[in-house]
Amino acid sequence: MADPRRYDVVIVGAGIAGASLAVALSGEGLRIALVEALPLGERPLPRTANLADFDPRVSALTPRSVGFLQALGAWDAIAAYRCCSYHHMTVWDAEGTGQIEFDRAEVAAAELGHIVENRAIVHALLALVNDAPDISVLSPAALQSCSRLPSKAISLELEGGERLQADLLVAADGALSRVREMMGFVCREWDYGHRAIVATIEVERPHQETAWQRFLPTGPLALLPLPGGADRHYCSIVWSVQEDKADAILALDDDTFCAALERASEARLGTVLACTRRYAHPLRQRHAVDYVQPGVALVADAAHTIHPLAGQGINLGLQDVAVLAEEIAAGHRGGIHPGELALLRRYQRRRKGENLLMMSAMDGFKRLFEQQSLPLRWVRNTGMRRIDSLPPVKRQLMRHAMGLG
Ligand SMILES: Cc1cc2nc3c(=O)[nH]c(=O)nc-3n(C[C@H](O)[C@H](O)[C@H](O)COP(=O)(O)OP(=O)(O)OC[C@H]3O[C@@H](n4cnc5c(N)ncnc54)[C@H](O)[C@@H]3O)c2cc1C
Repeated sequence: MADPRRYDVVIVGAGIAGASLAVALSGEGLRIALVEALPLGERPLPRTANLADFDPRVSALTPRSVGFLQALGAWDAIAAYRCCSYHHMTVWDAEGTGQIEFDRAEVAAAELGHIVENRAIVHALLALVNDAPDISVLSPAALQSCSRLPSKAISLELEGGERLQADLLVAADGALSRVREMMGFVCREWDYGHRAIVATIEVERPHQETAWQRFLPTGPLALLPLPGGADRHYCSIVWSVQEDKADAILALDDDTFCAALERASEARLGTVLACTRRYAHPLRQRHAVDYVQPGVALVADAAHTIHPLAGQGINLGLQDVAVLAEEIAAGHRGGIHPGELALLRRYQRRRKGENLLMMSAMDGFKRLFEQQSLPLRWVRNTGMRRIDSLPPVKRQLMRHAMGLG
């Protein structure tokens, strides 16, 4: 059998997290491999903005994430393709009069964030990966097994039998991470009892560069603005519904689904004129107890998954990537190899608190908005109106959600 190929860092998973980590580490004098189960051939992005051409998976990127993608050199290509900045956010409670408005003027920002199709982010990052002489891309190549050798290096076997060795193995293989499982990381997880239905819709009225979110007793509904034409208005929806309601909603024909969505959104954007095929994602909260072991690190969804209600998942993930890349690069310049536990622990220390805080906040929101009892509904509605009238508190909340404070 051929000798395994040796790398300083092997990253498993070329989604947003894995591809951005490879780019962030490039140029540091490390030998990097990026392993992806799916074929990564140059698939051109659709240039027409018809309803069905949008990726059903979009992300609301914070200014902090955009800054990181800018620093990597990926943002200009993403912006030149298409994305929609949003300047305003309206959040309201279906059960009462509570409503909060967030506007870019309140934090003196150019925008609150950008809605970007996930595949556009990955596409821009992979273009950089392909130009980097220090990154080897192995795709399609699913990781089959991995283990720690007596030398402390990590041994990997890919589907098809190819073997690799790494000083550091990074799991960027998503929520159902095989690396996390195979290396025996303990993960706390619980079911939200929700499924997120995603689709792209066309609406009658302009979205006003606003992200709309309504809290229904059955779960939150978000309408996120997408770029459209002069008189065509598109949004991406994330409609979280209780598990027992999801199948019935998914089974609706297009017209009935559009009508249900219009009711659920109180027709804030007028008639829902059309929708694409619907996809459903089961929602579970997961958090690895440790993000690191000697020679192994988890990043982004492999380390934590969070309810999409505040659109923070990949924003937290990109910060994991930024911090891990920073620690690896600093270590390498100081002669410390990337799998060293002390180095990896610094990454964990810098990230775990922030991730946990955001996850608990999202969990709290979800539970609060599910409550039907009259006193809790009163507290919720009064609380929303009160926060709306307290600019300093609101500013702090906004800065935190934008990754700025
Ligand atoms: C409905 C919904 C809406 C969301 N909205 C937002 C939002 O607005 N803002 C936000 O910040 N986040 C949002 N998120 C979260 C965000 O989508 C995720 O955090 C993000 O996609 C995770 O990226 P990742 O690179 O960690 O994992 P993934 O995107 O899952 O990528 C993992 C990659 O690893 C590969 N892989 C898996 N197993 C193997 C293997 N064995 N061998 C080789 N390769 C492998 C996969 O093929 C894949 O390419 C949302 C999530 C959902 C479900």
